[in-house]
Amino acid sequence: MPEKVVIIGSGPAAWTAAIYAARATLEPLVFQGNPFDDKNRQNGTLPLGQLALTTEVENFPSWPAGDTRQYLKTALHEDDSDFPYWVASNKEQPTHGINGPELVALMRQQAKQFGTRVESKDVVKVDLSKRPFTVTTHDGETVETLTLIVATGARANYLGLPSEDKFKNKGVSACAVCDGFLPRFRNKPIVVVGGGDSAVEEAAYLTKFASQVHLLVRRDALRASKIMADRAKANPKIAIRWHNEVDEVLGDDKQGVTAVRVKNNKSNTKEELPACGLFLAIGHTPNVGFLDDQVELTPQGFIKWTTLARTFTSVEGVFAAGDVADDYYKQAISAAGTGCMAALDAERYLGHHGLV
Ligand code: NAP
Repeated sequence: MPEKVVIIGSGPAAWTAAIYAARATLEPLVFQGNPFDDKNRQNGTLPLGQLALTTEVENFPSWPAGDTRQYLKTALHEDDSDFPYWVASNKEQPTHGINGPELVALMRQQAKQFGTRVESKDVVKVDLSKRPFTVTTHDGETVETLTLIVATGARANYLGLPSEDKFKNKGVSACAVCDGFLPRFRNKPIVVVGGGDSAVEEAAYLTKFASQVHLLVRRDALRASKIMADRAKANPKIAIRWHNEVDEVLGDDKQGVTAVRVKNNKSNTKEELPACGLFLAIGHTPNVGFLDDQVELTPQGFIKWTTLARTFTSVEGVFAAGDVADDYYKQAISAAGTGCMAALDAERYLGHHGLV
């Protein structure tokens, strides 16, 4: 018997889809990815997704300040301690709010409580050319399914410098909305890299906290829309540094980032900018490789939602949720919202075709 719903992914979109599908008695099977794959670690595509790469989450509704320790002890279970970052974050449990890994682990726990089955495998191939669809994992397991929800997310692009990697979560971030409010970023200069809408938006957002924001743009023009670019240029707290690139992130284990050495690619000169943080806003790469072009993508490479306000894709019975299809909002709560929609869309598809 084929599965009714297979969900690929492990972030807020995937777990919300699983909660809804499980409660609709569709017995979803989730492929959350392989936690022991080194490539997943390097790419930031380990189980629990991008949210697990951030620290405190203060903008997900239902998590006001409070001591979450006691609640987490009862809500989360022993078997959630099998992933390295969960163990790490558990050690750094915040006194208020919720950590990203814990928030998404709670979502997974909730999905499991309603009967979701979870496999810790990477999906490497799908065949959407015939029904039921087939899904193949890295160890060669093949599963048939009547519907598929793709919620594999997108990974933020980083520059790829070893010093950048070293200071991730210690001042290096790719999400100002997630991390900008943290005390470490208060009243000191911050460096932002990128010239698109995300970069100017993140730079403007960070001016609320930083004494100054240096915006490094690798050429002599912004890619951002005119209105956003004009706003950034007019903001007295944003210093746009044309033809500037990151040469190295500087700091130490105790303080994290303390400065960024920048290089002017026109004059070939280098300069050290004191800074408590480096924010990358150089685009995102959606995780769609395993689809092998069987689902239509947008020109930016995200899965295309083919119908307004639905999670339908170009293949009937395949639905997309979260950042893999969203190049615009990219928030945990909006991913969760489209995860809910995808499960409802899958349920209605199965009902409409008399498959359940
Ligand atoms: P984007 O438009 O692709 O811009 C990426 C920027 O990063 C470009 O300026 C690019 O420089 C720069 N960049 C790429 N690789 C780099 C590297 N290795 N070193 C230095 N700089 C590098 O990406 P985005 O800003 O994330 O925007 C994605 C989409 O979301 C866009 O359609 C955007 O309009 C939309 N968005 C809209 C809003 C809004 O309207 N409020 C907010 C955010 C995003 P080059 O220009 O030199 O290539």
